[in-house]
Amino acid sequence: MNRPAAVFPGSFDPVTIGHVSIVKRALPLFSRIHVAIGSNSNKRSMFPVEQRLEWLRAAFADEAHVEAVVFTGLTVDLCRELGAAFILRGLRNSTDHGFERSIALMNRAVGHIETIFLPAEPIHAHVSSTIVRELIANKADVSAFVPKGVIIP
Ligand code: ADP
Repeated sequence: MNRPAAVFPGSFDPVTIGHVSIVKRALPLFSRIHVAIGSNSNKRSMFPVEQRLEWLRAAFADEAHVEAVVFTGLTVDLCRELGAAFILRGLRNSTDHGFERSIALMNRAVGHIETIFLPAEPIHAHVSSTIVRELIANKADVSAFVPKGVIIP
């Protein structure tokens, strides 16, 4: 049976080792995974979308079945455009769970797209782009939390 494709949406501001882990662990389930940067003009980011895309491409350079893209609009519309039947998301804690559950149910209601969740590896449960940005803003070294190709300017 042919495996379906998935979209892994997020801000990736910047990509972290937590994101990379989720994608790599999900790869056996899907024929391809589109890692999709949601570019929402009214959401402020630390890094420009071109930079975030470049880092994602570097992080998955060795993975032939992973493609990084930028999108605007609804994730379910992107799924339809790309022929992806599933959304992939990671769960770090119960706060993620509560939030993600509502979004997943909404994506199912409006787009008939199911969401597949993978739990964060315990060693990554504390890693988030938000905390990495906070460290960067305070000039701390974040190399342990981001993939090798991510060089903070
Ligand atoms: P958002 O901008 O919606 O917070 P992110 O870009 O931070 O999303 O993350 C995209 C996806 O990656 C989300 O499903 C999020 O739960 C997941 N994720 C982020 N950090 C980790 C981590 N350390 N371990 C597992 N999943 C993670």
